[in-house]
Amino acid sequence: MTTIQIIDPTSSPTLREWPSALYLHIPFCPTHCHYCDFAVTVGTTSLIEQYVQYLLQEIELTPSQGQPLASVYFGGGTPSLLTPQQLERILLALDHHFHIAKTAEITLEANPGTLNKRTLTTFQHLGINRISLGVQTFDETMLKRLGRNHTVQDTYEAVDAIRRAGFTNLSLDLMFGLPEQTLANWQTSLTSALALAPEHISAYDLILEPTTPFGRAFQSGCAPLPTEEATITMYLDLI
Ligand code: SF4
Repeated sequence: MTTIQIIDPTSSPTLREWPSALYLHIPFCPTHCHYCDFAVTVGTTSLIEQYVQYLLQEIELTPSQGQPLASVYFGGGTPSLLTPQQLERILLALDHHFHIAKTAEITLEANPGTLNKRTLTTFQHLGINRISLGVQTFDETMLKRLGRNHTVQDTYEAVDAIRRAGFTNLSLDLMFGLPEQTLANWQTSLTSALALAPEHISAYDLILEPTTPFGRAFQSGCAPLPTEEATITMYLDLI
């Protein structure tokens, strides 16, 4: 006979000890990548300050779980478009309202071309201790095809600046299954990423979102996109 154990969620240690993690969305980008359907806005940097003020209000209105935050993640969008002062105000509000644990991981998503060593050093002084860099590919032509707003050289300069500023926790975002991407091209991207010795890699198989230029131009599994078999091989290579 099977016995079903009913667990009272309020008494479950797993739930009570659930890590306290917070994601803040910063929806501003200099340009719109051709595959992206995230909630972002382009050419509206004049609204960033107003958005920060709304975020501060939102923080005040959000009930605190009564335990310090173990993880804070500034995602986007391009959070590295915020000034250090704006990030500082948000972090101070979070610490005041929720408390940020001394050991918390605080991540900032950034795009190559938006960083320099001076700003990065200031970010670090604010307590930001992890950078997630939107690299996507080490192929110049592919970057243009994706509508990315940076070059491969920008990526190398950003990683150099991140390391020189003292960050010891770096994550690189990569994409595969891209138009006209070959297996050799993907392997070059992977090798180039690994040569930079990041602490973490996030890799995304392209999803065709219907409202994007890619979604309108391409059909899954059909040229110029790689076949399903080729994309699976890329995934296995990644692993
Ligand atoms: S930088 Fe990121 S969030 Fe902004 S448009 Fe490109 S993919 Fe989307």
